[in-house]
Amino acid sequence: MREPSLNFLRTLVNTPSPVGHETRGQRVWLDYAKQFADETFSDAYGNCVAVLNKGGSPRLMLAGHADEIAMAVNYIDDDGFIYVRKMGGVDAAITKAQRVVIHTRTGPVKGVVGNVAPHLTKQDGDPKPPKIHDLFLDIGAGKRKDAERLVRVGDPITLVDEFELLRNDLAVARAFDNRIGTFAVAEALRLLKESKGKLHAEVCAVSNVQEEVGLLGARQIAYSLKPDVALVVDVTHATDYPTVSKAQHGDVKSAKARPSRTAAATIPKSSRASRRWRRRRKFRSSTRQCPRRAARTRTRFSGRAAALPARSSVCRTVTCTRRWRW
Ligand SMILES: [Zn+2]
Repeated sequence: MREPSLNFLRTLVNTPSPVGHETRGQRVWLDYAKQFADETFSDAYGNCVAVLNKGGSPRLMLAGHADEIAMAVNYIDDDGFIYVRKMGGVDAAITKAQRVVIHTRTGPVKGVVGNVAPHLTKQDGDPKPPKIHDLFLDIGAGKRKDAERLVRVGDPITLVDEFELLRNDLAVARAFDNRIGTFAVAEALRLLKESKGKLHAEVCAVSNVQEEVGLLGARQIAYSLKPDVALVVDVTHATDYPTVSKAQHGDVKSAKARPSRTAAATIPKSSRASRRWRRRRKFRSSTRQCPRRAARTRTRFSGRAAALPARSSVCRTVTCTRRWRW
């Protein structure tokens, strides 16, 4: 890998980006991606976009999520020990005895996840894996007041592990899910920028937020960009190591391209998705999607009631029924 790309990857994964608090990591991504973009911007939620060949068609979105799984301060007891809750799919068993950083309003506070030594536990049979509420953090505070001076309930917590290169291009890091995806889309933008071929598509590289708690950022940015085609990059589980069942989880080798798979939830080629794509392409240059209709569509798909935006100048009934019939 070329040196600047490796340095970018190292800085990106080493910069804490807990879900809901992605700003620092997003700055690193945007600073790198903007070298290869005609335009960059971010939205109110923190999603970042770098656009190449603005005005081209179709509009292609390359997206990865920037947030990493994390924990948050949930409760501080009288002795100053901190109890946590999950933000995303944290495994409590591998979090025990690890060093952590609590990201507070006054800066990082170091801590360690407590673990009882085997000499002090009396247990018959295999120990049960811990639950997240069994974990407690020691930040060196003697009592609750000392701890409360430093941290607040809700402060995000990440592990300390950082990027290391092992042998044969094998690397370990804390947050490859999914900084490796945002790295890939930034690199794709660089390669497109450097290629000599004429680019027809408008390419939007996106580093989106809050995937680990419900794919929120991807949904927000898809509604605002309205891409014709979206390619989403995320990680999967390798199975080329002992104890994992290939029969159950497939044959996925680290550092090798994953064989493509067809899932059950697919849309046949000539379905309404492509018809919608053709229709959207035709009208995109002359009109924008009506916000009232977008809200109605969202309501229909989510099954939840949502307040419709007030009628505005872009929302004439004739416009939205004729051009945006779903
Ligand atoms: Zn992911």
